Amino acid sequence: MDPVLTGLLKPKSVAIIGASATPGKIGNTVVKNLIESGYQGGIYPVNPQAEEILGIKCFPTISAIPGEVDAAVITIPAKFVVEATEECGKKGVKGLIIITSGFSEVGRADLEQEIVDIARQYGMRVLGPNIVGTLSNSDKMNASFAPFLPLAGKASLVSQSGALLIAMDAATYTRRVGFDKLVSIGNMSDVDFADLIAYLNEDPATSCISLYVEGLKDGPRFIAEARKATKPIVVLKSGVSAHGAAAAASHTGSLAGAAKIYGAAFEQAKVSQATDLDDLFDRTLALSLEAPMKGENLLVLTNGGGVGVLATDSAEKAGIPLHFAPEDVQEELKKHMPDFGSAKNPVDMTGMAGNEWYHDTVKFAYAHPWVDGLVILYCETAMTLPQEIAQSIHAAITETGITDKPVTVSFVGGERSDKAMEWLVENGIPAYGAPDLAVNAMGALREYGRMLDLANEKPYLPEKVDSALARSIIASARKHGRNALTEIEAKKVFKAYGLPITETDLAKTEEEAVQLARKIGYPLVMKIVSPDILHKSDAGGVKVNIKDELGVKEAFQTITKNALAYKADAFIDGIAVQEMAPWATEVIIGSVNDATFGPTVMFGLGGIFVEVLKDVVFRVAPVSLLEAEKMLESIKSAAILNGVRGEVMRDKKALAKVLASYAFMVYDLKDEVSESDANPVIVYEEGKGVKVVDARIILKKK
Ligand code: ADP
Ligand code: MG
Repeated sequence: MDPVLTGLLKPKSVAIIGASATPGKIGNTVVKNLIESGYQGGIYPVNPQAEEILGIKCFPTISAIPGEVDAAVITIPAKFVVEATEECGKKGVKGLIIITSGFSEVGRADLEQEIVDIARQYGMRVLGPNIVGTLSNSDKMNASFAPFLPLAGKASLVSQSGALLIAMDAATYTRRVGFDKLVSIGNMSDVDFADLIAYLNEDPATSCISLYVEGLKDGPRFIAEARKATKPIVVLKSGVSAHGAAAAASHTGSLAGAAKIYGAAFEQAKVSQATDLDDLFDRTLALSLEAPMKGENLLVLTNGGGVGVLATDSAEKAGIPLHFAPEDVQEELKKHMPDFGSAKNPVDMTGMAGNEWYHDTVKFAYAHPWVDGLVILYCETAMTLPQEIAQSIHAAITETGITDKPVTVSFVGGERSDKAMEWLVENGIPAYGAPDLAVNAMGALREYGRMLDLANEKPYLPEKVDSALARSIIASARKHGRNALTEIEAKKVFKAYGLPITETDLAKTEEEAVQLARKIGYPLVMKIVSPDILHKSDAGGVKVNIKDELGVKEAFQTITKNALAYKADAFIDGIAVQEMAPWATEVIIGSVNDATFGPTVMFGLGGIFVEVLKDVVFRVAPVSLLEAEKMLESIKSAAILNGVRGEVMRDKKALAKVLASYAFMVYDLKDEVSESDANPVIVYEEGKGVKVVDARIILKKK
């Protein structure tokens, strides 16, 4: 483990710079909290005005402290923090926990940077500023102004909001979801989510990493660390409402919103996304206690038909629809129910089920290889005691010795059921107050299992790449002072990454157009080539289905005339003459260079699907082939590619390859390309490939 971060988060001694004898002051609260939480390391209050604080010897300066200091909690006003940082550096402090606010959040990023720069010189790390502090049950350490340690458990929380951290701290007791560490991350001047994911992944007291995120500073690093983590990560991201997409030069730019790209990035980084605070707790509970669900077979056990039906509905919504177990499994299950029970799925043992039936059925079902995940439901009955049922379930699960298969539980009833569930959670089995919540939790475990498979895939590398050629085309456009490539240039770049484009040549004159037409063959498409006209059809600059020489001549004149009518001073390079691709299913591929995550690729179906329904999917580039295949499946209108309504199956294999190559291209050119699209790309029937008929690349301003 990183020794510096260990010093910061698991310190052997803590100095409190700005410690105060006045109750209610943060500098007093932190000292009090360290004492009351039972912290066993050295506590060193620093304040030149006090002899002792809360019965502990106080030091005038940090250098006056006799022993080593691992972490310094800083509560003095912002303007004094720079000096304190320098002193801490000299003392050999490993990490600063800067509670003080008044930095970048109020426009003083400069002050924050100064502190980080000094800290770096001394090899210190900085948590904050503008934070609550950090808390750890396993270290019995509350180095914060939050009032108490959270309910003990196996998850750890990193929160960008201090207020929410304090609220969640208290809520751990009412919701019965336990945490080991709570870390307030504030302005993230230095230590960020990626650092803490790496640290907590190694922390033996943490089994699940929960995050409350408002915004990331370095998206790619977050993805890299989250991908590397072997422990599950859950995130609640705020600010997901539609982000007013700014007027953008490309179609993709106008469709990309922060929420969509964050969502994509989390999925790629196998981070489980909570929809709200309740969901964050629910997912954290399941992921901190249970293994991912590795197959599709979920079995639901119940003693009541009603909750069984509710579970069936939720299972479908959660993406794990119920299937009937094989005959032999059903036969065995029938031994533990009356004749009127059901061994299908949900398995209904009926209200007659007592401790023994629960025990035997759970034990058999949980151990059976067909079962990939088990949800156990129980409705309070007059003949059973919830606590006894809970104990039977726990005993059955434990007796199997299995730990790599998930189980979730829901008891529906009153106080006794609540108590029994509390007991179950304390004994390592996640239990929820409603059947749909237990199923949703299993859904999260299944989703995590699926994400794990995908995240292991390597990014796709196109077979032949001519990066140098692509760069020379871009450089030459820049030399002419242009930020947008023409279609012909953009297609050359596409081709350099192996993308299948319609071959295109430039005709400067009508005569040249005729010559080219003879070479290419009919039917043809002709298009305006002008750096001043980005959307060619809008300018009447595209003519399709040109069948003969006369048509070529006519098109040449009409297009030129239309272009000048559209924009009188447009500079016209000439007219592109290109092969006409037969019509099939139209899709769009595009990219944006996202401020947080960098090059991000988009896919959607063309026409109304993209224009009206905005049915598109994003992924941070590069992507694996499997991920590209998954993109094709994850738009709402995915079925169109499968050939619905008498249409034929489309060449999804070829399309996935093109999409993955495209992602590689925008990743490789991330320093050059700001936005791009291939719109449309025509997808032919299975085995017949795809064709990119239009290409657009907007360069980054330099
Ligand atoms: P823009 O998007 O700038 O208006 P496009 O190059 O996309 O121009 O052309 C407009 C439309 O013309 C396309 O959406 C497509 O339907 C059709 N088209 C363009 N080029 C070809 C081609 N080579 N083969 C077949 N159809 C084409
Ligand atoms: Mg187009």
